[in-house]
Amino acid sequence: MSTAGIPVWTYRDEYEEDRTRMLEIVDRVFSSGRLILGDEVKRFEERFAAYCGAHHGIGVSSGTDALFLALKALDIGPGDEVITVANTAVPTVAAVRATGAKPVFVDVEEETFLMDVRKLEQAITARTKAILPVHLFGQSVDMEPLAAIARQRKLFILEDCAQAAGAACAGKRVGSLGDVAAFSFYPTKVLGGYGDGGMVVTDDAELAARVKRLRFYGMEKAYYSREEGYNSRLDEVHAAILDFKLTALDEKVARRRGIAERYSRELAGVGDIVLPVTGRERTHQFYTYTVRTRRRDKLMGYLIERGIETKINYPVPVHLMSGYRFLGYQPGSLPVTERLAGEILSLPLFPGLSDDEAGAVIEAIRACFAAP
Ligand SMILES: *Cc1c(COP(=O)(O)O)cnc(C)c1O
Repeated sequence: MSTAGIPVWTYRDEYEEDRTRMLEIVDRVFSSGRLILGDEVKRFEERFAAYCGAHHGIGVSSGTDALFLALKALDIGPGDEVITVANTAVPTVAAVRATGAKPVFVDVEEETFLMDVRKLEQAITARTKAILPVHLFGQSVDMEPLAAIARQRKLFILEDCAQAAGAACAGKRVGSLGDVAAFSFYPTKVLGGYGDGGMVVTDDAELAARVKRLRFYGMEKAYYSREEGYNSRLDEVHAAILDFKLTALDEKVARRRGIAERYSRELAGVGDIVLPVTGRERTHQFYTYTVRTRRRDKLMGYLIERGIETKINYPVPVHLMSGYRFLGYQPGSLPVTERLAGEILSLPLFPGLSDDEAGAVIEAIRACFAAP
């Protein structure tokens, strides 16, 4: 086959496959007479929370809002500090800032790209209220030592699970590893919808009730705000679509893992490529398949000339972006995070990527490193 036009991600082949069911779902919801906060949202909240191994789920309008409302429900705001990483998508940090709290960054591990829990203690101050681990690229942070520190220092844990729905650490799924967790159903995510959406997941009934109020103007009953709130609802139609997609999630992840295993098998020892590592006692959902190479820009250019799209997640760490300069971090303050930004590359990976396409990606990478 020709290598022309392999995207790093697309949902279109999945839509082709699911089209009839999808249109039935849309028609069912649109015909029901109820478009906001009805049975579809309730059913999906229950099923998704159960999938995560947690008691409560609250559907919200995005992953960013899920993080924001979870922080608000923990009473985190101005004067408080939240420890997270700069090696993440901007929304992790934007959500902390939206509460008025200050994000404090720790560096990441060289091998997994995830929060380096050994560097956590030195970042804790009297103002620290919560730790916000990001389960980046589809893999959980090493949660057992993190949870031990949180317990000892009496800090909340808010998991950013946006990229890792279904991933496990020591046999438990993300979303059940802290006090509260935030998920995104942005289309590219492992469980992606056909628009924006998110969910807060927790075992704590009081916290769940508070998030539920906060997403709906602070109301428990119509037209009466018990506390100041917001508008952040998951639509009925999106909940119904996501509920359908949840059923197939494990099967789709198995396909992602199959492609990832083949990449790892056939790219081992090619050039100076460093392959993704799955941490001890963890499973990987392969939201992205992200390699490292010192010849990253050359490889990226070589592939795009051959119609193969790749992506850098992320080219500039959040602490070095002009929008977050006011936080006061200098270049060199997070050395591993900064080094990774110059070397990482995510290869095409989505459940609909064919064997031929994966093979073409591998061939092109081998050819690039074989070229003088
Ligand atoms: C996508 C993402 C978010 C935000 O989710 P949205 O639904 O796009 O608001 C937060 N954190 C991480 C790590 C993400 O990848």
